[in-house]
Amino acid sequence: MLDVIKLLPDGVANQIAAGEVIQRPASAVKELMENALDAGATQIDLVVKDAGKALIMVTDNGCGMSETDARMCFERHATSKISKAEDLFSIRTMGFRGEALASIAAIAQVELRTRRKEDEVGVKIINEGSVVKEQTLAPMPVGTTFTVKNLFFNVPARRNFLKSPAAEMRHIVEEFTRVTLMNPEVGFTFTSDGKELYHLYPGNLKQRIMGLFGSHYDEKLLPVHQDTDRVSIHGYIVKAEFAKKTRGEQYFFVNKRFIKHPYLHHAIENAFLEMIPKDSFPGYFLDIEVDPADIDVNIHPTKTEVNFIDVKLVYAILHAAVRKAIGQNNLSPMIDFDEPTNLGFDFGEVVKSSNPIVQPEVPVNPSYNPFRQHQERVRPSEDWRLLYGERTDQTGEETSSESRAEMPQQIEQKSRYLQLSQSYIVTTVKSGLLVIDQHLAHSRILFEKFLKEMETNSGHSQQELFPQPFTLNVNDASLFRELMPELQQVGFSLEQVNPTTFMINGTPADLSGGDPVDLLEKMLENYKINRTDLQLERKLGIAKTMAAQLSVKSNTPLSEPEMQNLVDQLFGCNVAEVAPDGKKIYTLLTIEELNGKLKTEN
Ligand code: ADP
Ligand code: MG
Repeated sequence: MLDVIKLLPDGVANQIAAGEVIQRPASAVKELMENALDAGATQIDLVVKDAGKALIMVTDNGCGMSETDARMCFERHATSKISKAEDLFSIRTMGFRGEALASIAAIAQVELRTRRKEDEVGVKIINEGSVVKEQTLAPMPVGTTFTVKNLFFNVPARRNFLKSPAAEMRHIVEEFTRVTLMNPEVGFTFTSDGKELYHLYPGNLKQRIMGLFGSHYDEKLLPVHQDTDRVSIHGYIVKAEFAKKTRGEQYFFVNKRFIKHPYLHHAIENAFLEMIPKDSFPGYFLDIEVDPADIDVNIHPTKTEVNFIDVKLVYAILHAAVRKAIGQNNLSPMIDFDEPTNLGFDFGEVVKSSNPIVQPEVPVNPSYNPFRQHQERVRPSEDWRLLYGERTDQTGEETSSESRAEMPQQIEQKSRYLQLSQSYIVTTVKSGLLVIDQHLAHSRILFEKFLKEMETNSGHSQQELFPQPFTLNVNDASLFRELMPELQQVGFSLEQVNPTTFMINGTPADLSGGDPVDLLEKMLENYKINRTDLQLERKLGIAKTMAAQLSVKSNTPLSEPEMQNLVDQLFGCNVAEVAPDGKKIYTLLTIEELNGKLKTEN
């Protein structure tokens, strides 16, 4: 019998391997650009034709290659970036498997021109389908140009499998965006079919975001900075009011490598939780810097997944960082409660930018952060609970009064409050007519109050004259126990007397007459649906449920002082625009809108 096992010829093996690494033109773009960055380039130019199918050309001014390396770089597992397997764990460069060029050359016609600065003349190599067709000396500036023509020319199945040029272009733009975002100090251009699509000048991350997404991003971004011993987070989030209805700019990087991470995405969504409407998505551009030993990178070059050794810590730090960034920015639109008759200057418009155009009539402390008393360094040795736990303010100063609404004097004297349909508060502001949903306004106020009480452990408790028993089945009782610490913080005084019974010895002062058993049952019900081992989420859940239950309902008559009080407190909140569930709390009918309306109707 003849032996039947044969080794595949190199070209065929490369072709097969190529399918994994190079799935579409965008994959080649990514690999070539990452190589250019690894070569230390400060300027990288990308040219494509026909969405990369006809041509992909990447030119860099990096270190270049020697003649031998220029030949070698097309070999499979040829890499200058790794020599020992353990290097895989400390590697910081982009690619490290030495597969990209071998793969590209297996399925395209590649021309490489490269020159090191110590060489007088460069070398040009043409490699088609893994076969070197030509090698000559060539005059050229220091750096490297890879020209990739007719991708998949010898793999027609692949070529036919490609999507429409528009779809392939979208992939290329996306890869270009991911690579350029985290390298703002490098200049890039991107030309497609003779048209320059991007011209990115070296600069900082903010400038890079503006270069990629438009200069109007200038006012949309909030910086995020959080340094701890094991994790650092830097970048920008998009302000809540610019959240998009479509999944838009959501960019996570780990050590500057783009990753997708639904769990960490959740941390950001959660940080924005009660500020953006349910159907909108937060935008972010964040780099998470960790010791490479703390992550387990899936070393497959096309994968965008990363496993963190301590993902809960990263979640907590990320959440806190975003929360801090939001807290430091006053998200409440500023409404000027000046006298309604003075209509000459329209300062009362809802000011969308954070520019302090409106003078501090508004009782909001923009630097107030409801979740932190101080911007402390988070020590990773701390349990992540501590990040959100008791106040970390070591000075013992009472800082909580900062956030409370102070009553703008003008309102007291000059404004009036009317109640519409026993559900809405109507009042005039300088720029028009403000209509506020009383129930939503009150839930926002209570929500922030309860959250804060939990943060500062300052919930007031009212002792019950006759402690009430609260009995559950065994499973519910053990769930309920998980909620107890937070419930105590908000003013419940609870004691477990046997495996299934708790005594309610005290209730939050705000409960005034409400049924505590009812409320605790609601809380448990919600917790069953949204069970979490994150303390912060438990707090959010409790604050939400309490706010929803205890806030004044629609169809409730309110006195004028009550309405006034409600409005004042609302605009003293950190976020006045939306209720904890994302619903809009008020609407403003401006004089201009009114004028326009009347004009069209007259
Ligand atoms: P890897 O990047 O994983 O090492 P590649 O196949 O992408 O594998 O590249 C192989 C080698 O070719 C690299 O390790 C590097 O030494 C060299 N190389 C590739 N592109 C460039 C470039 N633009 N400038 C200088 N050297 C390069
Ligand atoms: Mg590479």
